[in-house]
Amino acid sequence: VTSPHPNPAHPAAKRPVLVPPIVRESTELSALRGAVRAFLDDELRRGRFVPTVDSWGTAWDPAFSARLAARGWIGMTIPREYGGRGATFMERFVVTEELLAAGAPIAAHWVADRQIAPSLLRFGTEEQKQALLPGIAAGEIHFAIGMSEPDSGSDLASVRTKAVKADGGWRVTGSKVWTTGAHAAHYFIVLARTAALDTEHRHDGLSQLVVDLRAPGVEIRPIVSLDGRHHFNEVFLDDVLVPDAMAFGQIGDGWHQVTSELGYERSGPERFMSTVPLLDELGRGARVADDLDPELGRLAARTAALHHLSISIAAALSRGEDADVSAAIVKVLGTTTEGDVADHAGALLGEQQDGALRAAAEQGLLQRPGFTIRGGTNEILRGVIARGLGLR
Ligand SMILES: Cc1cc2nc3c(=O)[nH]c(=O)nc-3n(C[C@H](O)[C@H](O)[C@H](O)COP(=O)(O)OP(=O)(O)OC[C@H]3O[C@@H](n4cnc5c(N)ncnc54)[C@H](O)[C@@H]3O)c2cc1C
Repeated sequence: VTSPHPNPAHPAAKRPVLVPPIVRESTELSALRGAVRAFLDDELRRGRFVPTVDSWGTAWDPAFSARLAARGWIGMTIPREYGGRGATFMERFVVTEELLAAGAPIAAHWVADRQIAPSLLRFGTEEQKQALLPGIAAGEIHFAIGMSEPDSGSDLASVRTKAVKADGGWRVTGSKVWTTGAHAAHYFIVLARTAALDTEHRHDGLSQLVVDLRAPGVEIRPIVSLDGRHHFNEVFLDDVLVPDAMAFGQIGDGWHQVTSELGYERSGPERFMSTVPLLDELGRGARVADDLDPELGRLAARTAALHHLSISIAAALSRGEDADVSAAIVKVLGTTTEGDVADHAGALLGEQQDGALRAAAEQGLLQRPGFTIRGGTNEILRGVIARGLGLR
């Protein structure tokens, strides 16, 4: 299809835009969906988890991760030789959607499963793949992300954490912030400068390093969120020795490595499903009260449309197609929808509500500010979309 630019004479109107066709789910995928639902129902019946809003960012439960892994539902796309299942991205997508919809506690393995495993497969050395992938697939190795710094968020190329070559490895010094789960994870993947900043080529000289969060010189300080809970941290690195074996991919190629996975990171179902447990509670509340809620209908329809867009992009990505712009669209529309679900629930908070609905609404409202910020703010992503459509 062509760009929706209103002026057909504008050059942007001739630019092709990836809007993949709606994907019809195969019977195999539907059966997998059913198996995950049955597992989750059983877990709920046994009282093993309480559904939460934003469970992929906040609900850390290694025992749950281990039970999922035992069914082969973590690191699904990792080849069997590295302990994975050799499954497709579509299979992973379906499993992920069910876990998010149920508000299941998936934060412990989230980062390792979503981005470390595919990055390792693409850029890691054989030694790193063998050392890390089996533990990731077993739900036993947990990762955090060390990109943002006190003065470096949207403009990531300005990171100041430095890694200097030493005997047998790299000495890393600097500080990271908003590091979700650093206090509970085993490693975090750090973006650092390994060569002086060249103002003409700001993206050069950046590298990724896998840092052991218990190594000497690592200090982790909690940041308590609005909800009073501890998800975030500041992480200070003081001359931390990272062995050569843990330099990730190519030294100096960090920017390319970081950005190459953004299509997966931004188009996934977590970008519109953090508030599905709340949407579910709103629906249940409306049914119990026999209430007609047109806004709830609109929010459910938006979520369903985002499912189609997101799964179509997953299909396009697995065919090796480029989807940066449509992934940014999912993230902007998805996180805006999540915020609108939280706002709608918030507007109803004053009315009589049962405990589960109230708890979900409160979680949604307190987590809401983060939805549009994490993974690249929506302002930045609108720039990506505008450039992709040739509008800027
Ligand atoms: C829930 C949550 C979890 C997170 N987890 C992690 C994590 O695990 N690891 C990690 O490394 N980071 C994490 N972050 C940090 C996140 O990636 C950054 O907050 C985000 O990239 C924005 O950076 P910043 O906070 O420095 O804001 P800034 O970059 O300072 O931006 C401030 C404001 O200015 C706007 N702005 C900036 N530049 C432009 C521009 N060029 N055009 C238009 N507007 C602009 C932004 O949109 C924003 O509104 C997390 C954040 C949240 C909310």
